[in-house]
Amino acid sequence: MEKEIWEKAVAFHGHACPGLAIGVRAATLLQEQWHVNRGEDEELVCISENDACGVDGIQALLGCTAGKGNLLWHITGKMAFSFYERNSGRACRMVLIAEQGTRSRDEYQRYLLEGPAQEIFAVEEPRFPLPAKAPHYDSYRCEVCGEWTAEPYIRLQKGKKVCIDCYRGKTRNG
Ligand SMILES: [Zn+2]
Ligand SMILES: [Zn+2]
Repeated sequence: MEKEIWEKAVAFHGHACPGLAIGVRAATLLQEQWHVNRGEDEELVCISENDACGVDGIQALLGCTAGKGNLLWHITGKMAFSFYERNSGRACRMVLIAEQGTRSRDEYQRYLLEGPAQEIFAVEEPRFPLPAKAPHYDSYRCEVCGEWTAEPYIRLQKGKKVCIDCYRGKTRNG
Protein backbone atom coordinates (compact mmCIF):
# COMPACT_ATOMS: atom_id res chain seq x y z
CA MET A 1 0.00 0.00 0.00
CA GLU A 2 1.50 3.31 -1.07
CA LYS A 3 1.62 5.74 1.80
CA GLU A 4 0.13 8.59 -0.20
CA ILE A 5 -2.93 6.53 -1.17
CA TRP A 6 -3.66 5.80 2.48
CA GLU A 7 -3.02 9.41 3.49
CA LYS A 8 -5.38 10.67 0.81
CA ALA A 9 -8.15 8.47 2.17
CA VAL A 10 -7.40 9.50 5.78
CA ALA A 11 -7.58 13.17 4.77
CA PHE A 12 -10.96 12.58 3.17
CA HIS A 13 -12.34 10.51 6.07
CA GLY A 14 -10.92 12.61 8.90
CA HIS A 15 -9.11 9.90 10.85
CA ALA A 16 -7.25 6.62 10.40
CA CYS A 17 -9.18 3.53 11.48
CA PRO A 18 -9.53 -0.17 10.58
CA GLY A 19 -12.93 0.55 9.05
CA LEU A 20 -11.39 2.98 6.58
CA ALA A 21 -8.69 0.41 5.83
CA ILE A 22 -11.38 -2.07 4.74
CA GLY A 23 -12.72 0.34 2.13
CA VAL A 24 -9.27 1.43 0.99
CA ARG A 25 -8.15 -2.18 0.52
CA ALA A 26 -11.31 -3.05 -1.40
CA ALA A 27 -10.75 -0.01 -3.65
CA THR A 28 -7.08 -0.76 -4.33
CA LEU A 29 -7.81 -4.45 -4.90
CA LEU A 30 -10.41 -3.52 -7.48
CA GLN A 31 -7.96 -1.12 -9.14
CA GLU A 32 -5.38 -3.92 -9.39
CA GLN A 33 -7.80 -6.56 -10.64
CA TRP A 34 -9.68 -4.41 -13.14
CA HIS A 35 -6.84 -2.03 -14.06
CA VAL A 36 -9.06 0.95 -13.36
CA ASN A 37 -8.11 4.16 -11.65
CA ARG A 38 -11.05 6.36 -10.78
CA GLY A 39 -14.61 5.90 -12.00
CA GLU A 40 -15.35 8.23 -14.90
CA ASP A 41 -18.81 9.70 -14.50
CA GLU A 42 -21.13 6.83 -13.72
CA GLU A 43 -19.16 4.06 -15.44
CA LEU A 44 -17.97 2.48 -12.22
CA VAL A 45 -20.70 1.80 -9.70
CA CYS A 46 -20.33 0.63 -6.11
CA ILE A 47 -23.13 -0.77 -4.00
CA SER A 48 -22.17 -0.77 -0.34
CA GLU A 49 -23.88 -3.02 2.17
CA ASN A 50 -22.98 -0.74 5.09
CA ASP A 51 -22.71 2.96 5.82
CA ALA A 52 -19.58 2.70 7.98
CA CYS A 53 -16.08 4.21 7.68
CA GLY A 54 -15.01 2.00 4.75
CA VAL A 55 -17.39 3.73 2.35
CA ASP A 56 -15.20 6.83 2.57
CA GLY A 57 -12.22 4.83 1.28
CA ILE A 58 -14.28 3.87 -1.75
CA GLN A 59 -15.33 7.48 -2.33
CA ALA A 60 -11.82 8.89 -1.90
CA LEU A 61 -10.04 6.41 -4.16
CA LEU A 62 -12.55 5.19 -6.74
CA GLY A 63 -14.56 8.34 -7.38
CA CYS A 64 -17.80 6.50 -6.63
CA THR A 65 -19.61 9.18 -4.68
CA ALA A 66 -23.03 9.62 -3.14
CA GLY A 67 -23.72 12.80 -5.08
CA LYS A 68 -22.85 11.40 -8.52
CA GLY A 69 -25.20 8.49 -8.12
CA ASN A 70 -22.54 5.82 -8.65
CA LEU A 71 -22.36 4.96 -4.96
CA LEU A 72 -25.51 3.21 -3.84
CA TRP A 73 -26.57 1.39 -0.70
CA HIS A 74 -28.14 -1.96 -0.14
CA ILE A 75 -27.81 -2.08 3.62
CA THR A 76 -27.40 -5.55 5.05
CA GLY A 77 -24.98 -4.58 7.82
CA LYS A 78 -22.25 -6.66 6.16
CA MET A 79 -18.74 -5.47 5.30
CA ALA A 80 -19.38 -6.10 1.62
CA PHE A 81 -19.06 -4.00 -1.51
CA SER A 82 -20.25 -4.86 -5.00
CA PHE A 83 -18.63 -3.20 -8.01
CA TYR A 84 -19.99 -2.88 -11.53
CA GLU A 85 -18.47 -1.43 -14.68
CA ARG A 86 -21.15 -0.35 -17.13
CA ASN A 87 -19.23 -0.47 -20.41
CA SER A 88 -17.60 -3.87 -19.90
CA GLY A 89 -20.29 -5.53 -17.81
CA ARG A 90 -17.67 -6.65 -15.28
CA ALA A 91 -18.96 -7.12 -11.76
CA CYS A 92 -17.78 -8.51 -8.45
CA ARG A 93 -18.68 -8.53 -4.79
CA MET A 94 -16.02 -8.32 -2.08
CA VAL A 95 -16.91 -9.56 1.37
CA LEU A 96 -14.61 -9.01 4.32
CA ILE A 97 -13.37 -12.30 5.77
CA ALA A 98 -10.40 -10.97 7.79
CA GLU A 99 -10.96 -11.10 11.53
CA GLN A 100 -9.24 -8.99 14.16
CA GLY A 101 -8.60 -11.98 16.43
CA THR A 102 -5.94 -11.13 18.99
CA ARG A 103 -4.46 -8.30 16.91
CA SER A 104 -4.36 -4.82 18.35
CA ARG A 105 -6.34 -2.14 16.55
CA ASP A 106 -3.17 -0.86 14.82
CA GLU A 107 -2.05 -4.36 13.88
CA TYR A 108 -5.48 -5.14 12.46
CA GLN A 109 -5.44 -1.93 10.43
CA ARG A 110 -2.05 -2.84 8.95
CA TYR A 111 -3.19 -6.41 8.27
CA LEU A 112 -6.25 -5.12 6.41
CA LEU A 113 -4.04 -2.90 4.25
CA GLU A 114 -1.10 -5.25 3.69
CA GLY A 115 -2.19 -8.82 4.45
CA PRO A 116 -2.58 -11.37 1.62
CA ALA A 117 -5.61 -10.29 -0.44
CA GLN A 118 -7.19 -13.73 -0.28
CA GLU A 119 -7.20 -13.52 3.55
CA ILE A 120 -8.91 -10.13 3.56
CA PHE A 121 -11.78 -10.50 1.09
CA ALA A 122 -13.76 -13.26 -0.52
CA VAL A 123 -14.49 -12.21 -4.08
CA GLU A 124 -17.63 -13.53 -5.74
CA GLU A 125 -20.42 -12.65 -8.14
CA PRO A 126 -22.71 -9.84 -6.97
CA ARG A 127 -26.01 -10.93 -5.47
CA PHE A 128 -28.02 -8.24 -7.24
CA PRO A 129 -27.89 -6.85 -10.78
CA LEU A 130 -26.38 -3.63 -12.03
CA PRO A 131 -28.79 -0.82 -11.19
CA ALA A 132 -30.12 1.52 -13.87
CA LYS A 133 -28.44 4.91 -14.22
CA ALA A 134 -29.30 7.44 -11.55
CA PRO A 135 -32.88 8.46 -12.31
CA HIS A 136 -34.01 12.05 -12.47
CA TYR A 137 -37.36 12.51 -10.81
CA ASP A 138 -39.98 15.19 -11.19
CA SER A 139 -40.51 17.30 -8.12
CA TYR A 140 -43.81 18.28 -6.56
CA ARG A 141 -44.59 21.06 -4.16
CA CYS A 142 -45.72 19.65 -0.79
CA GLU A 143 -49.27 20.87 -0.31
CA VAL A 144 -48.69 21.39 3.42
CA CYS A 145 -45.27 23.03 3.85
CA GLY A 146 -44.81 24.16 0.24
CA GLU A 147 -41.31 22.75 -0.21
CA TRP A 148 -40.29 21.07 -3.49
CA THR A 149 -39.93 17.32 -3.02
CA ALA A 150 -38.72 14.60 -5.41
CA GLU A 151 -41.45 12.23 -6.55
CA PRO A 152 -40.36 9.06 -4.66
CA TYR A 153 -40.68 10.94 -1.36
CA ILE A 154 -44.13 12.38 -1.98
CA ARG A 155 -46.98 10.70 -0.11
CA LEU A 156 -50.70 10.98 -0.76
CA GLN A 157 -52.70 12.17 2.23
CA LYS A 158 -56.43 12.76 1.76
CA GLY A 159 -55.83 13.41 -1.92
CA LYS A 160 -53.01 15.90 -1.27
CA LYS A 161 -49.38 15.43 -2.24
CA VAL A 162 -47.31 15.87 0.91
CA CYS A 163 -43.66 15.44 1.89
CA ILE A 164 -42.52 12.77 4.35
CA ASP A 165 -42.22 15.24 7.21
CA CYS A 166 -45.76 16.49 6.70
CA TYR A 167 -47.21 13.02 6.21
CA ARG A 168 -49.13 12.27 9.39
CA GLY A 169 -48.75 8.50 9.10
CA LYS A 170 -45.11 9.00 9.98
CA THR A 171 -45.70 10.62 13.38
CA ARG A 172 -47.98 7.78 14.42
CA ASN A 173 -45.17 5.34 13.80
CA GLY A 174 -42.72 7.48 15.70
ZN1 LIG B 1 -13.35 5.81 10.72
ZN1 LIG C 1 -44.19 19.23 3.65
